[in-house]
Amino acid sequence: MKDKSPVIKLAGGEQFPIELHKVRTVQKLQLKPIEERLEAIKAAGYNSFLMSTRDIFLDMLTDSGTNAMSDQQVSSMLQADDAYAGSQSFDRAKKAVRDVFNTKYFLPVHQGRAAEHIIAQAFVKQGHIVPMNYHFTTTKAHFELPGGSIDEIFTDEGLKIKSTCPFKGNIDISKLRALIKKHGADKFPFIRMEASTNLIGGQPFSIANMRQVRKVCDQHDIMLVLDASLIGENAYFVKQREKAFKNKTIAEILHTLCDLADLIYFSSRKVSSTRGGGICTNNVKLYDKLKDMVILYEGFLTYGGMSVREIEAMAVGLRETQDETVIGQSPSFIKYLVEWLDARGIPVVTPPGGLGVHVDAKGFLPHVPQKEYPAGALIAAFYLVSGVRGMERGTISSVRDDSGEDVLADVELMRLAMPRRVFTLSQIKYVADRLQWLYKNRKLVGGLKFEYEPTVLRFFLGRLIPTSDWPEKLAAKYKKDFGDSL
Ligand SMILES: *Cc1c(COP(=O)(O)O)cnc(C)c1O
Repeated sequence: MKDKSPVIKLAGGEQFPIELHKVRTVQKLQLKPIEERLEAIKAAGYNSFLMSTRDIFLDMLTDSGTNAMSDQQVSSMLQADDAYAGSQSFDRAKKAVRDVFNTKYFLPVHQGRAAEHIIAQAFVKQGHIVPMNYHFTTTKAHFELPGGSIDEIFTDEGLKIKSTCPFKGNIDISKLRALIKKHGADKFPFIRMEASTNLIGGQPFSIANMRQVRKVCDQHDIMLVLDASLIGENAYFVKQREKAFKNKTIAEILHTLCDLADLIYFSSRKVSSTRGGGICTNNVKLYDKLKDMVILYEGFLTYGGMSVREIEAMAVGLRETQDETVIGQSPSFIKYLVEWLDARGIPVVTPPGGLGVHVDAKGFLPHVPQKEYPAGALIAAFYLVSGVRGMERGTISSVRDDSGEDVLADVELMRLAMPRRVFTLSQIKYVADRLQWLYKNRKLVGGLKFEYEPTVLRFFLGRLIPTSDWPEKLAAKYKKDFGDSL
């Protein structure tokens, strides 16, 4: 089988990611001068969530709802069949789900967390434990709501910054067995596997690992639930990194993955580049148990809180997930940037994952104590010197304990998300260059402290201030080196 990965070889032998699409609708961007960027980050309380895209050059906050849609997706929206019940748009989506995920039953929901809400309400009871490779923020919250808890049983490689492990998203099977032995199988409503594990750097699991998890599920009669929000990239990595699947198509790999699960759910904001989400299964009993709740919380079974236009675009987007040139685009750009930075000693999570580039803020700013939020400081500093917006995945995203002390995060990361087909390689080269410049000038970056701190999910609305006048000093050095060039 011909390798269709969107990577070409240059004449010198070097591998190079290439855009196998052309841009036909564009959105204007501007790169404001550093004086204005300094004002903008100050006005946003040094919190990238509080910035306006007016002040941002490249928005690398998230891949959620920000992927580029294809011409096929946009044009499919015109044939939307507006109907409360029995819409043919739904039939097309159901057919796409069946072809891509190999499941007969499909329940549409308004986005990924709505699927989590329904699954949690249906299966998670007081005292239940849900083992998983790693949590996602909304997943954890929804599973805890009915009185359950989660247990992360990632392998020892999972949280290492530097690693050559191809499947950092794997579940540790011996930890899983020990957990079941300790609590008894009755405590586990299901085991959850998340494709391209979001919060640990978009890291995939292998099919071999999922097969082992399936075996444990069968032995103890426990369900296996697959969070397929980033399944396309996981399938791409299986093809690239798992020998037995080297010659399989992405469509075949997707079927193999999905056939191992009892229940699949996804956020269409990620996997199919539109709004919405869904729950899929081949088990009619599971379908029957969930469908009334979809009607109650989301909408009738043929729209589930989505507009029919979005349902059409989702159907096309799901089919495009089978196309290696579509799902390989973002991982190939990520690989390019990670390898470029790594080769220059700039601390990044390796191997490259499927969601974005994760810069290790503790390694980047070793002089900034963790209590002064190195990841938050790095994001503010990087915005200042580039106009690029990243997301904090560190102690600001954590909480305080009962005594009011920060619970220090396992890792301090600046995530630079790579939405699909949105950026060009010259923009990514700019990101690399400004990160390298910042690394050389890292001593100029200081810490942050809270000025206003909400009690829940403080990373969204919290406002911070620098611990010294370091932003001004950093801006002055930038001005000295780059002059009036943007
Ligand atoms: C984004 C995401 C969700 C939640 O989906 P929303 O559409 O944002 O509600 C759930 N799981 C994973 C792995 C995700 O990445």
